[in-house]
Amino acid sequence: MADLPFLPYGRQSVEEEDVAAVTAVLRGDWLTQGPAVAGFERALAARVGAADAVSCANGTAALRLAYAALGIGPGDAVVVPSNTFLATASAARHAGAEVAFADVDPDSGLMGVAEAEAAIARARNAGWRVRALAPVHYAGQTAPMDGLAALAQAEGLALVEDACHAIGTAYSSGGDLSEGAERPVGAGWPEVEVGSLTVFSFHPVKTIAAGEGGAVTGNDPALMARVRRLCNHGMMREPGPGEGFADPDAALDAEGNANPWYYEMAEPGFNHRLSDIHAALVLSQLGRLDRFVERRARLMALYAERLGPLAPLVRPPALVPWCRPAWHLCAARIDFAAAGRTRSAVMAALRALGVGTQVHYIPVHRQPYWRRRYGDLALPGAMSHYAQTLSLPLFPAMADGDVDRVAAALERVLS
Ligand SMILES: *Cc1c(COP(=O)(O)O)cnc(C)c1O
Repeated sequence: MADLPFLPYGRQSVEEEDVAAVTAVLRGDWLTQGPAVAGFERALAARVGAADAVSCANGTAALRLAYAALGIGPGDAVVVPSNTFLATASAARHAGAEVAFADVDPDSGLMGVAEAEAAIARARNAGWRVRALAPVHYAGQTAPMDGLAALAQAEGLALVEDACHAIGTAYSSGGDLSEGAERPVGAGWPEVEVGSLTVFSFHPVKTIAAGEGGAVTGNDPALMARVRRLCNHGMMREPGPGEGFADPDAALDAEGNANPWYYEMAEPGFNHRLSDIHAALVLSQLGRLDRFVERRARLMALYAERLGPLAPLVRPPALVPWCRPAWHLCAARIDFAAAGRTRSAVMAALRALGVGTQVHYIPVHRQPYWRRRYGDLALPGAMSHYAQTLSLPLFPAMADGDVDRVAAALERVLS
């Protein structure tokens, strides 16, 4: 095994057509906010079935923009499952809001309706004004969105879906995944009247890569216009409604059109823009999304087969019936106690056999910052998920035989 190449837990797939797309930008007129950015935003919106997409610097910036565009701020709270990457919670805190950490199902790692309701109740007890639910589509499977969208609508909350793991995933009501019945992640939930936005990341370990990149998708024109404005310093090129001009003489020419140098700012924004260089790469990658998703599904099916004999010590990820996942992670469940090995020893032994693994995630509510702020919350589902989770190699360039290699290494290490 030692002479075989090391298998990382995840890795980008860059091909010659990606290189050509990026090179073309470097030879062209725009390095930032040119035709590749506009083209990517159109293609992404079309792919996920949303009216609009705003690209941005990374998934964290996308979360920050989504919370800001919804007007979330001090005194407000956002419900965030504890089984996620730091950014889902930190971005809410940067907006000035509190984070109401929710528990997750210990097997799927997903926040359900009961867990969200419990977090809402705790937040209201603390005197916070709950403004949004931020379900995380962990590993590529979605949270139960019919229930969460209904809860958001009933409670007057916005919905910010953290879909950094789930580009290409299709959601369905009642398990019906036939053509027309499914809803791509990113299409949003127009029935949630306060607002519904979906956030993506194009970090290289995610399903499609920009290098660094992210996006917000949505359907409400006013909300998406605010996302777009906030992404670019809060600037508008045209005089905005009712706010007064920055310079009345500069605002309009004799024909009543905005002068070419005119801009105004109604609220302070960020520079969270995506460059055309990164957009060219991710646009090229988006063209292969279906192939990536298919390959990841095939590898996951092989994992289910090959890990079968290792049960109950090792179990593949728990499947939920309400989506067709574009798998981002193969988050296996391992009973380390029953195997008599610590996770640290298992990871080291796998590494020595050329198999990279990772842990997704240390529950965010256990981070020192949040413990200082909120004390020790009891979220047993998140702790139980954390205790057993280990992400195994999963990326499109893996060969079928690599899955055998991982399964054999696991068997050797755990027996
Ligand atoms: C990757 C990730 C983010 C942050 O995305 P970046 O592009 O790395 O900023 C946020 N949430 C989740 C669930 C992620 O996996």
